[in-house]
Amino acid sequence: MKKRIKHFLQVLLSVILVWLVIFLTINIQSIKDLARFLIGNKNYAYLSNDLVPTDSEYKNLYDFVNLNRDLSVIPESYRSNEPSYNKILSPVDKINYNRMVFIMKCLDSLNIKYDTIWVPDRASRLPAYTCNIFIKENESNIFTIITAHYDNLNKPDYQGALDNSSSVAILLNTIQNCKDLLEVKNVAFLFTTMEEQGMFGAEHFLNYTKDHNFKINKVICLDGIGRGDLSAMNNCMGSFGFKFRNWCFKEKLFTGSSFKDCPDYSKVDKSLINLNKYNIKILHSFLSSTDGRVFIRAGIPTIHLTSNDIPHFLKVMHTNQDRIDGLHYRSLKQCEEIISDIVKNIE
Ligand SMILES: [Zn+2]
Repeated sequence: MKKRIKHFLQVLLSVILVWLVIFLTINIQSIKDLARFLIGNKNYAYLSNDLVPTDSEYKNLYDFVNLNRDLSVIPESYRSNEPSYNKILSPVDKINYNRMVFIMKCLDSLNIKYDTIWVPDRASRLPAYTCNIFIKENESNIFTIITAHYDNLNKPDYQGALDNSSSVAILLNTIQNCKDLLEVKNVAFLFTTMEEQGMFGAEHFLNYTKDHNFKINKVICLDGIGRGDLSAMNNCMGSFGFKFRNWCFKEKLFTGSSFKDCPDYSKVDKSLINLNKYNIKILHSFLSSTDGRVFIRAGIPTIHLTSNDIPHFLKVMHTNQDRIDGLHYRSLKQCEEIISDIVKNIE
């Protein structure tokens, strides 16, 4: 009898060991990423050790995030052009309207032509009051799109520095850097609205591309850039989170507050950008939720670029703590230089 029990325990132990080896092996990437996150979290301090200078080329970022308070950076002539229905908007609702007008003003000052694609607000049922801003200086109907959403949460004193004011400033500076090339490169730029309200802006843009018979080669989507190193994240069809396999090897997602079955996602497509050349890391175990998903659903190859300081991202996202003094100047410059180089190397 004793022998049988001993034998049973030996078999049980072997099964547990085999399970443990498989569990650790299939989760090795998640374990590495979790360890990196925990170390980063332990050493985390909110304030940036590389503040964005106010007198640099990123002065536009300071202007951009203060638009709910300081409208002096937008000339009155721009604001008086607003559609008449805009008059019913509250000051808080005007935040995104002012952000849109600010981008137009910057493009006008560079002499860059753009299309305005007005987007109805399906969530609040308000009439359209913001638009996607689309820049395509070349004649071709086949091109790459570099995009960032410009809308913020409608909250007083909310800067949305990391999400997504920084990417807008980077894109504006890139357009300025590459201004003379835009006519000969098959590239377009897109500032989307209503990403925060279910990515309606990006969805609406797809109709526009169909109407114009555009064929989009690929999309480079900037969201969450400005703290740490430039990185690429898997595009998720559900929410942001950390993915791993549970005890029965089923893929799960931890959203920060709950565990759920892992939604569909598409892995980073390494063929879209030369990740080695630019030293862009892949955040393998993290899934992002941004405009990129809309393009992927439409079958367009898309890569989402972001920053790798996940502890900062989780601490500030969608709170009034998401401010410029938490950003790294070198992160903005790194991304701007890479995107400018990508534009220069497009056919
Ligand atoms: Zn965002």
